[in-house]
Order: sequence, then structure tokens, then C-alpha cells
Amino acid sequence: MLEHLGAQVMPVRRPAELAEVDGLVLPGGESTVIDRLTGLTGLREPLREVIAGGLPVLGTCAGLILLAERLRDGGPGQETFGGLDVTARRNAFGRQTESFETDLVVPALEGRGADVPPVRAAFIRAPLIEEIGPAAELLAALPDGRAVAARQGRVLGLAFHPESTGETRFHELFLQVVREG
Ligand code: GLN
Repeated sequence: MLEHLGAQVMPVRRPAELAEVDGLVLPGGESTVIDRLTGLTGLREPLREVIAGGLPVLGTCAGLILLAERLRDGGPGQETFGGLDVTARRNAFGRQTESFETDLVVPALEGRGADVPPVRAAFIRAPLIEEIGPAAELLAALPDGRAVAARQGRVLGLAFHPESTGETRFHELFLQVVREG
């Protein structure tokens, strides 16, 4: 998706590779595994430092969980990197079979013109944002008002996968943050 929007991308697996990027995507997947692997590879502390230091970050689904300052229903001993002043609940919608797609209300995108199409978002064993602290702001909510995306400065956290439905606007917003950064 980011390449399609004109960005150059590379995987980051080692701490030294963090110095080569202007922004970071924490993708979907399994947050307990990402947590464990970053602990084993020595990436966890460097990641915490660059995020706290203002590196632009886009976290989707598991990535949102990893950005949350506070986590409910985490795996045993699961840690997060922090950076986003929210309380996330992991697997808040239940099991994989309860995954779904829906249209989202996105106030941050609505300011951009009259006829803004809704965001079609895929929730794949997704987390929810149960509380947003004072340092973060709401970015997107379900039609019933539950928060599913938040932003704190250069850190964007989405509970859903915009890329799997072809939605480009959150990635465009992220690239705008990267360019400004
Ligand atoms: N349930 C996964 C977790 O706990 C997240 C799923 C996803 O990234 N689509 O990390």
C-alpha cells in the first residue's frame, strides 16, 4: 500500500535498521508474538526509544495493541512499546470467526470536503480502544461510538486493517505525517 502511494519501504528486523527509516509501520499479526520476538532480537527497547522520540508510526490491529500505553486481555507477561495514550482491549470482538467488515465514521477525514465516502474497514480478531487519555485524540469510531482509531502526534493506531479493503486514506495521512516529520 505504501509503495503504491509512492513511498520506499523496507523491513525492519534489527535495531540498526531503525536508523534507516523516516517512519515505521507496526503491522497486523499477533501482538504476543511480535512482543516476544522484539524482546529476543533486542528491538523492543530501541523501538520504545524511537517511538518516544517522535518517529512517525502507523500501527494496525496488532500494531495498535503494541502502541497502547495500557493493555487489557494481553497474553501472559505481554508488554507494549507505548506511544499512544489509550487503553486497548485485545481480541475485543471474540474469535477469528467473528471477524467482520464495516463502514466507519472518521471525523478527521470528514473535514476534507463534502462528499467523503465512509471508510470500509476489516476487523480481523481486532482490538478495541476502551479509553483515550488526554494526550491522544479519537480518529475513528464504529457507528455505535466505540473508538477504533486514535492519534497522538506522529503516532497513529488503528484497530482495523484499512489495506485489505483498498482504503488508502489512513496510509496517505501517515505519509503526510512522515513528510512533515
Ligand atoms: N488478535 C491479534 C493480536 O492479539 C491481532 C489481530 C490482527 O492483527 N489482525 O495481536
